[in-house]
Amino acid sequence: MTSTPTVLDSVVIGAGQAGLSASYHLARLGIEHVVLDANDTPGGAWQHRWDALTMRDVHGVAELPGSTPPPLTQARANAAIPEYFAGYEAAHELPIVRPVRVDRVDSNDDGTLTVHAGDRSWRTRTIVNATGTWTQPFIPRYPGQEIFRGEQFHTVAYPGPEHFRGKRTLVVGGGASAVQFLGAIAPLTETLWVTRREPVWRTDDFTPEAGIAAVALVERRVAQGLPPESVVSVTGLALREQEREAERLGVYAARRPMFERLEAEGARWADGSFEPVDAIIWATGFRPAIAHLAPLQLRSPAGGIQLDKAGRGTGAVADARVQLVGYGPSASTIGANRAGRTAARGVERSLAAVRAASG
Ligand code: FAD
Repeated sequence: MTSTPTVLDSVVIGAGQAGLSASYHLARLGIEHVVLDANDTPGGAWQHRWDALTMRDVHGVAELPGSTPPPLTQARANAAIPEYFAGYEAAHELPIVRPVRVDRVDSNDDGTLTVHAGDRSWRTRTIVNATGTWTQPFIPRYPGQEIFRGEQFHTVAYPGPEHFRGKRTLVVGGGASAVQFLGAIAPLTETLWVTRREPVWRTDDFTPEAGIAAVALVERRVAQGLPPESVVSVTGLALREQEREAERLGVYAARRPMFERLEAEGARWADGSFEPVDAIIWATGFRPAIAHLAPLQLRSPAGGIQLDKAGRGTGAVADARVQLVGYGPSASTIGANRAGRTAARGVERSLAAVRAASG
């Protein structure tokens, strides 16, 4: 077991957009910290996105503080963004330690926290949690999933459109990823689309006001301690140039409600109708990767972590030593960026309170 002899002022867990932004702002405030990241190399979740996702396909990537993001070209996002993050980490000499997968954060009797990763540990006065969602893919349960003989993929394992050529493919989910997958696959093979709720299409151009209103909805949820919903899920869907061919083929208009169950060869609906399919893509989202925070008992009775400042802050209401970035309303590159600054200020306040209390 190895443990840091000194008590750090802060430990940032995760080095995606949110963790890098937090580290940049902590450094600017002169707060001694380390960033622990589970990946072997820079890039956060972006390094694991599918090869077919180009910079032109991403829905905009906000710049890290004081830098310029990669241009929207045909370059692969899983290469361009990691390269951008690597350059940023080096330029700002951010104190990143990897690979370190944090498995538990404990509270100590003296008011400090211990961050555990296997046989290593770090003592700290505060933490900034920036672990994203990518490691927690969510697939809803439906009867018959285990007897379906075709292939099933979640977004995390999407092998790219070519894999589906000639396979009748069912895409599940009402978010931007489902729309994007259909756009790529429908020109190559027969597709079906199912969503739990009627999709909400944006008819106007997406305005900054609409974005702010969408984020405000998620803020209201975390202010009440409810589990956050994806910001994208409340902004509504829009078709882009890449999706026009699928639209012309009628794929989006033919959307059906969720099936009732899966059978060996396909999906069965409540009205008895049946569709044979060879493959299913579950574009059904992610959950926050926060299991390592369980010992701190941050969850409210409503099931989520309540954040301060009516959900606009990053501080956990249940524990002033803990900030969450990239969680709920800040789960987008732009939100993560801003949250990094808010969290660094939250850490500064928490440290000042500890120092004042200890005389
Ligand atoms: P991540 O990038 O996931 O980084 C988290 C880091 O924490 C990772 O490096 C991970 O290894 C590390 N980590 C996780 N658990 C642990 C642990 N226990 N111990 C140590 N380290 C750990 N947003 C946009 O703005 N534009 C888009 O086009 C866009 N497209 C998206 C497409 C998909 C398919 C998805 C899922 C999301 C998309 N988003 C997009 C959202 C966006 O990617 C994230 O909200 C944003 O990048 C913030 O990243 P993050 O730092 O919170 O998390």
